[in-house]
Amino acid sequence: MGEGTTDGTDGNPASTGERSDTTSLADAEAIAQVREALLSWYRSDHRDFPWRRTDDPYEILVSEVMSQQTQLGRVIEAWTDFTERWPTVEALAAADRSAVVGFWSEHRLGYNNRAKYLHEAAGQVLAEFDGEFPQDPSGLRELQGVGPYTANAVASFAFDNGEAVVDTNVKRVLYRAFSVPDEKQAFEESARELMPAGESSAWNNAIMELGGTACEKTPRCDEAACPWRGWCDAYASGDFSAPDVPAQTTFEGSRRQFRGRVVDVLRSHDALALDDLGPRVRVDYAPEGTYGREWLRDLAEDLATDGLVDVERHGSRAETVVRLRR
Ligand code: SF4
Repeated sequence: MGEGTTDGTDGNPASTGERSDTTSLADAEAIAQVREALLSWYRSDHRDFPWRRTDDPYEILVSEVMSQQTQLGRVIEAWTDFTERWPTVEALAAADRSAVVGFWSEHRLGYNNRAKYLHEAAGQVLAEFDGEFPQDPSGLRELQGVGPYTANAVASFAFDNGEAVVDTNVKRVLYRAFSVPDEKQAFEESARELMPAGESSAWNNAIMELGGTACEKTPRCDEAACPWRGWCDAYASGDFSAPDVPAQTTFEGSRRQFRGRVVDVLRSHDALALDDLGPRVRVDYAPEGTYGREWLRDLAEDLATDGLVDVERHGSRAETVVRLRR
């Protein structure tokens, strides 16, 4: 996501992840809302990698093989140089293997075996597949060095013909948002269930983008305007533990998180009435609800005790104003 993302309070349900009446993912309507929220978030802004602008299976395969153990920043430069030097699968197949391996070493792309396999796979495409890449994951797996993840990525991004990706980032998102148990089969089933049929390219890009830019180990729910805040179990509870993030106490995590948000919001607004502050602190704020005026005033009183804010109490709770202590 770019730096300029908003806090997601523009009133658009798709971008705010406004909570639906039915939040269970067993519910088809909720799944449709969850899908649309993520896809429109991704369409509105995402990191612009050059391989996301192509559906050429050769170029995508090169990007996937390069990304396996290399930072994305370095991959951009290497991928650009590589596809300029060998712009097609035919050109790569005709290259000297030593030149390809030399390129790999010069660009510090990790194990040289990957360069050898890539070169060999290019030869296979010409010799065994008449110069046309197989279009499904099982066909792609026949290429040298192409494992299940890479095969699925190429099938998705080149042919819109892949399965739902389940990598570390996706597991973290599913575990937090929908409390999917930390089990291989459960992740695969829920990832499959969520992915709209025939949209593996956009979907897999979008959910991996969510895990890579918003639902990172330290989540950036509001800063990245996560489109799933309205449905997310972790966002509601404040417990952001995940298979790759150690557990924390739910209650403490939640209090700490929301106290931080109150202070952040007041830094740019100075003073706000509870009902103006609440929606900026959590997307599911409802004045009379569980996370409403009472909850927020309690949080503000805590911050006042710690000397961080002042709470000006007026007649009703609605008139209470919270101000950053300067
Ligand atoms: S709301 Fe936060 S924790 Fe939940 S999916 Fe979005 S970024 Fe992850």
